[in-house]
Amino acid sequence: DPRPTTSTTTTTCGYCGVGCTLDVHVRDGEVAAVTPTRGAPVNRGHACVKGRFAHGFTRAEDRLTTPLVRRDGRLVPTTWDDAVRTVAHRLAAVRDRHGPDAIAMISSARATNEENYLAQKFVRTVIGTNNVDNCSRLCHAPSATGLSASFGLAGGTNPLDDLDHTDCVLLVGANPTDAHPVVGARIKQRVLAGARLVVVDPRRTELAALADVHLQAVPGSNVAVFNGLAHVLITEDHLDHDFLDRRTTGFDALAELVRDYPPDTTAEIAGVRAADLVAAARLFGQARHPAIVYGLGVTEHRHGTDGVRTLANLALLRGAVGTPGCCGILPLRGQNNVQGASDMGALPDLLPGYQPVTDAAVRDRFSAAWGRPVPERPGLRIPQMFDAAIAGEVRAIHVIGENVVQSDPNAEHVRAALRACDLVVCHDVFPSRTAEHADVVLPAASFLEKDGTFVNFDRRFQRVRPAVSPPGGAASDFAVLHRIAHALGADLGCPTPADALAECAALTPVFAGLSHQRLDAGGPLHWPCRAPDQPGEAVLHLDRFATPDGRAALAALPHLPPGEQPDGEFPYLLITGRRLEHHNTGSMTRRTPNAELLPAEALEIHPTDAAHLRVVDGADVTVTSRWGRAALTAHLTRDVVPGQVFAAFHFPGATVNDLTSPHTDTATGCPEYKVTAVQVRPG
Ligand code: SF4
Repeated sequence: DPRPTTSTTTTTCGYCGVGCTLDVHVRDGEVAAVTPTRGAPVNRGHACVKGRFAHGFTRAEDRLTTPLVRRDGRLVPTTWDDAVRTVAHRLAAVRDRHGPDAIAMISSARATNEENYLAQKFVRTVIGTNNVDNCSRLCHAPSATGLSASFGLAGGTNPLDDLDHTDCVLLVGANPTDAHPVVGARIKQRVLAGARLVVVDPRRTELAALADVHLQAVPGSNVAVFNGLAHVLITEDHLDHDFLDRRTTGFDALAELVRDYPPDTTAEIAGVRAADLVAAARLFGQARHPAIVYGLGVTEHRHGTDGVRTLANLALLRGAVGTPGCCGILPLRGQNNVQGASDMGALPDLLPGYQPVTDAAVRDRFSAAWGRPVPERPGLRIPQMFDAAIAGEVRAIHVIGENVVQSDPNAEHVRAALRACDLVVCHDVFPSRTAEHADVVLPAASFLEKDGTFVNFDRRFQRVRPAVSPPGGAASDFAVLHRIAHALGADLGCPTPADALAECAALTPVFAGLSHQRLDAGGPLHWPCRAPDQPGEAVLHLDRFATPDGRAALAALPHLPPGEQPDGEFPYLLITGRRLEHHNTGSMTRRTPNAELLPAEALEIHPTDAAHLRVVDGADVTVTSRWGRAALTAHLTRDVVPGQVFAAFHFPGATVNDLTSPHTDTATGCPEYKVTAVQVRPG
């Protein structure tokens, strides 16, 4: 359309955790085009195929624009007043009959910080329980717990820009070319400019093909690999002794433990060559400014938190974190605001800014400000919510902006949990597989229609601004939560998103300097940002670590086996992940031209395995696990090794999470998406 657009709004991408700044151009009230904002600090004028072209969903024909209430077994349109009254009445009934702990809320990494703040405040003060969690439970909860244990704070240590001066990237369990394309491009540019690259990943990704060393370690062996690398760093003395002496604890215990991980032993556990392991350790050990970038291939394991901690050891051994000029450790967050949802306290044990609900002084401060007592007992994590629903202990689940039936593991268990509830409430932009189980479906605004902030993967608060109005009766989660609270006789305060961030900042020392006004005037700010006249801290831990003794804690942790292993009945190992063209459950990207670029999912399988199974490229295959079944087509590729298969979870027809197991990280409850034993059959 050659006509000029009528307005341009600068906002933050709502897809991945990079958080690119985008200009949204509007004509006749609809998004006409999206371009990366020139000079924006995060993406420097770049954006990927999702941020640039996946915006047409805003006016998709099947967009939810009217609340739906289930009557006589069918979801039927109703008014907002009726829908809100129904939710409030039935939540109150569950609370009165079974107590507040019978209600649970799953908040959202798609929602703004202000919506997440309001969601956890609603659950804690209006309902009276700590049963609130968000999808970081399914991806980076081990990062929050692991980085807190090692360094004292639950965030990556350095900004993305520090990759500009690294001379060696250790990229682990991440495929940023597909999942975080702007970061993938940044790493590639750096490598083409001469930086060394070590990749630890069971798949041959684009960056793995470019790497100096690619350790194709068997899924579930991360801790062994990191301990093996630490073994070489220590035995060959690639250590920053001064840093270790002054700023860490636990070196002797770590050195003792990693004696058991010499290259030959580690190589056998991980299925890699010992010489490659030594070469990788030397590249990392001899670099002057090594950087660690990692993703869900580290966290989504039975021992994911141990993986984060033993990976953090490598940065500490080299003094590559908390020192001038260091490049630190960067966890690549999956969804746009998964960092922010946790920062805002949408967690069962932590209030905003990671302040523990079990700390009486913290609780008293929030209770006094909110005018209602914050419950003391930590609430349920998402997997525990589903278990409790099946056990009859949780009777109502309120889901904001998540399609848990498609995204959470062991989907039949999730469906059974939703069926067992007296009430399921769902806010979403589109009808979803989760909405099929809901009693009330509330039409939600998308990120292109919202006011607030997101926090990206390097701890930057960025403004989210409405470029267009939500269609029909769709409304922001912020407005919906206010209405439900009001119908329950409560007032959540903070009438605007700016008020919500101001209230959060007043109660949370690490966010004390943040406000919409400041972000509008000066652009993005990293947290911690402790006062209105202070810049945010882009690099953490320069003076001291945020641990009680000010020192980072090296972790001596052994390799332990994953939740399940291939066997005669289920001889292949399934890894799940993401594709470039789509985002998570695909509800937005599948309704855009990106669907033409990638219209369906296929199971990646090695040609040797395919030949053994008598399967050709494009043939139908049935995949079964101990937990469920999925029908896919085969895609023959040498990007996976024999014995391993790979699929993404973007398409509801490819029920990949019917296959994944209930095994979770022992420390945080994060599901083990990366290790599922499966059988593959033709047909
Ligand atoms: Fe940037 Fe990620 Fe959005 Fe792509 S999906 S434009 S990399 S924030």
